[in-house]
Amino acid sequence: MPTPTAFLRGEFVPLEEANVNVMTHAFNYGTAVFEGIRGNWNADHEQLYLFKVRAHFERLRKSAKIMRMELKYSDDELVQITNDLVRRNGYNEDVYVRPIVYKSSEVVGVRMHDLEDDFLLFVTPFGAYLDPEAGVRCMTSSWRRIDDTMIPARAKVNGLYVNNAMAKTEAQLSGFDEAIMLNSDGHVSEGSGENIVIIRDGVLITPPESDNILEGLTLDTALQFAQEEMGLEVVKRSIDRSELYIADEIFMTGTAAHLTPVTEVDRVPIGDGEFGPISKQLQQTYFDMITGKLPQYSHWLDAVYEPAAVPASS
Ligand code: PMP
Repeated sequence: MPTPTAFLRGEFVPLEEANVNVMTHAFNYGTAVFEGIRGNWNADHEQLYLFKVRAHFERLRKSAKIMRMELKYSDDELVQITNDLVRRNGYNEDVYVRPIVYKSSEVVGVRMHDLEDDFLLFVTPFGAYLDPEAGVRCMTSSWRRIDDTMIPARAKVNGLYVNNAMAKTEAQLSGFDEAIMLNSDGHVSEGSGENIVIIRDGVLITPPESDNILEGLTLDTALQFAQEEMGLEVVKRSIDRSELYIADEIFMTGTAAHLTPVTEVDRVPIGDGEFGPISKQLQQTYFDMITGKLPQYSHWLDAVYEPAAVPASS
């Protein structure tokens, strides 16, 4: 296996040497923005497919803009660096790529301005995050989703994830798999690392972007499949907590979580408590697409490795 490698301060370096100083501003104050990008391994193709790399960097740039941070590489450079890094690490399994733009100045003082920004990237093997087969049991968190007037949830800000982590830990220590957070106005926002979709009478309903959600790329993909592949209606509107209990199906979407059914909320079974048929079909399409089995969506994928040399026909 090649030496695990990261990208830090403009260079590829061994992961074990990819360290930042304890005085780094981002470490002290959470002043960083990040992304998560999946690489999905297809053993038949002997290929690792990165999903929507460019879209992730576009979102990273927006997060950085909101936080007044500078991302010093172009989108083309970022896509190139990511493909290079993943190739160098040589994994033949699912991976997770983590780009971070961070306040790199080694200085004490709470602020966003007059500080250096830097960029780093690492990749790590990463299997299933939630159980996409069995689904997840969720609880409505007692921790409310942080509001746009506090830290914008549409920006993937490292420090903001304390809010998500509190909700996730509360859920897991209470015997559930995942949390569902409500806004300060009481509407459903999202999971700790996933967007949420409920299905009622064949219509997919998901909270609007203004309900303190991350504008998810997996969500976008799932909604597109629902509309274009299955001819279903999609509605973006606020969702009440009680609607969760009477939904026919619920699923969560995320780079780590893929498309995972929710079988229970607050110990109330969703539908008949099994993996619902619409969620199942969407999940199948999603898994086929991210592993390069649907050529019509290959423009969303970067094949990391050179295709195996095809022997010349005689
Ligand atoms: N919401 C939150 C809070 C997240 O952390 C994530 C994961 N990035 C998502 C939603 C899903 O977004 P995406 O599908 O783009 O990964």
